Amino acid sequence: MSEWSIEEAEKLYGVSRWGGGYFEVGENGNVHVTPVPSDKSIRIDFQALIDEIRDEGVQFPVVVRFHDVLRSQVASLNTTFRDVITEAEYTGKYQGVYPVKVNQMREVVEEIVDAGEPFDYGLEAGSKAELITALALNNNENSLTILNGYKDEECMRLALLGRKLGRKMVVVVEKYTELLLLVKIAKELEIDPIIGVRSKMTVKGRGKWEGSGGERAKFGLTIAEIIKTARYLEEQGMGHCLKLLHFHIGSQLTDIRAVKEAISEGARIYADLHKMGFALDYVDVGGGLGIDYDGSASTNESSRNYTLHEYVADVVYGMKEVCDLEKVPHPNLVSESGRAITAHHSCVITEIVGEIRSNSAEIDTTPAENEHVFVKNIRELEDYFDEQTSMQEVFNDASQYKEQALDAFKLRVLSLEELGKIETIYWRIMSRLRTWYANEEYVPEELQELDYSLSSQYLCNFSVFQSAADTWAIDQLLPVVPLTRMNEKPSVNCTLVDITCDSDGKLDQFTVGREITDILPMHPLKNGENYYAGLFLTGAYQDVMGDMHNLFGRLNEVHIYSHDDDPQDFYIEEVVKGSSVQDVLNIMQYNPRAMAYDVKKLIDKQVSAGNIRPREGVRWTDFYENCLAGYTYLKTGR
Ligand SMILES: *Cc1c(COP(=O)(O)O)cnc(C)c1O
Repeated sequence: MSEWSIEEAEKLYGVSRWGGGYFEVGENGNVHVTPVPSDKSIRIDFQALIDEIRDEGVQFPVVVRFHDVLRSQVASLNTTFRDVITEAEYTGKYQGVYPVKVNQMREVVEEIVDAGEPFDYGLEAGSKAELITALALNNNENSLTILNGYKDEECMRLALLGRKLGRKMVVVVEKYTELLLLVKIAKELEIDPIIGVRSKMTVKGRGKWEGSGGERAKFGLTIAEIIKTARYLEEQGMGHCLKLLHFHIGSQLTDIRAVKEAISEGARIYADLHKMGFALDYVDVGGGLGIDYDGSASTNESSRNYTLHEYVADVVYGMKEVCDLEKVPHPNLVSESGRAITAHHSCVITEIVGEIRSNSAEIDTTPAENEHVFVKNIRELEDYFDEQTSMQEVFNDASQYKEQALDAFKLRVLSLEELGKIETIYWRIMSRLRTWYANEEYVPEELQELDYSLSSQYLCNFSVFQSAADTWAIDQLLPVVPLTRMNEKPSVNCTLVDITCDSDGKLDQFTVGREITDILPMHPLKNGENYYAGLFLTGAYQDVMGDMHNLFGRLNEVHIYSHDDDPQDFYIEEVVKGSSVQDVLNIMQYNPRAMAYDVKKLIDKQVSAGNIRPREGVRWTDFYENCLAGYTYLKTGR
């Protein structure tokens, strides 16, 4: 066995590469969290966290929210903008907003609003429900509330209600007809709106969301429509209401060049509008600030080739350069970063509840009388091949024997028992081949795939569709690592499967040693010892997009605050219970109480018929009711 250390583990799993300064492998081999990067003395050990969650009687899987991480991210975005603005002698301010759609959980939005208070950090809403939320939650009069997305008359009235309440509500016009509606209602209510226009950009973001930009983008006005809008407002005596220019070229921008291009295009539109007599106060550069999910700092879809500081510098200096050239004032800058604010703050802890190996069962393969020649053939292959034989040849022969055997079985020439023997020998040969080529420099392509077919599947107590929707829907990569035992060599090659009855319910994209692979090394399961994996960077989108596939509902949540005086450096501030079986049944229009009653009647009937003893009947009734009230996920271990 080769040496193993936590440095090796760090190289393999890259925790600090994607950890954003918050996560790393601790000296004891457990993953540690430093929720406030400026105060390294606060360190939370995941093992301590798991123990405390269990002591509280909270069942796994759980979502863990580190509220301090959320606060740190808000502070870091705002102070970076402030610092760069000062350094660049930029005369506008930064007035960011958090787009609620990225994670609408009340506790998350409240924490962001609270942490953003000193920076006048506001909210962005993209739908009526989000607008209603933002209206109630954002009570800082100096911060912006920006309304994007398609709007009806009610949305406009809600926005104008915000104006009445003294808020800086900005209605961003996404299509021309919205403008007519807004002007009509504003006049009727005699309230001055703050109006923004969203520009369709010719620049496309790079990455999965590049369709958000370009001429076929779903949202935004063309240049001609922007000019028409400005002129119409002027005609209506409302030219002064036009205050903001908005664009958003996509989420998870992988390449900084797209940001630069969008800024120079946007800055030119702003400058010319200014010269036409429309003195806008704000330029809103939208979202898109990426997250390095795979830790590669590259233009991979799951990464980004820039840092927060570089992004901010490109926005500030890019805007300044154009404005200075055009001799127009520097506008206040708005950005709508959601992913970057929320991704790190939450993770899912799931327990590995079992191992599936397709080739683990073996039957006795000693020669039997009158056995079919196919069994003999493959046995001879196994007995006689050695390191002088070509690996490819052994692989081809064994595969051919197995295929022939299957055909022969279907034609009733081979018995079930004989087929079982052939399978057993086949997988033994494959395992030997794999051990053999582990030390070879050149490995034929077909054989490389053996790594995958011989790997284990670790069964995780969670649902991909609930907790990691994007890994299924758009192949999003999320980092997954064991939370403990990093000081042991992970000797089992795995893929991870969930407990839904869907073969798509699996994770098979990992970052391992700076590469993206389909297998993840994990530690062997030990009897009587719980083993947990952490699915990280789930705070953006994943937390709130999950669905009800197989009726697995929302996860139990624990909300963590750090506290330096605490021996473990943290405390659980709140436990939010996940869905019970009756909760999810209610959503699907069932009536759990009636169901419990129906099952009780069936049990009573069996009791009357003498098939179940009365006491036993009561126990069965209670059991069914307890399961209805209980968690939807597997109940495991202690
Ligand atoms: C989704 C969205 C955002 C958030 O984008 P991130 O990439 O998560 O920062 C911002 N603005 C608009 C208009 C959006 O639709």
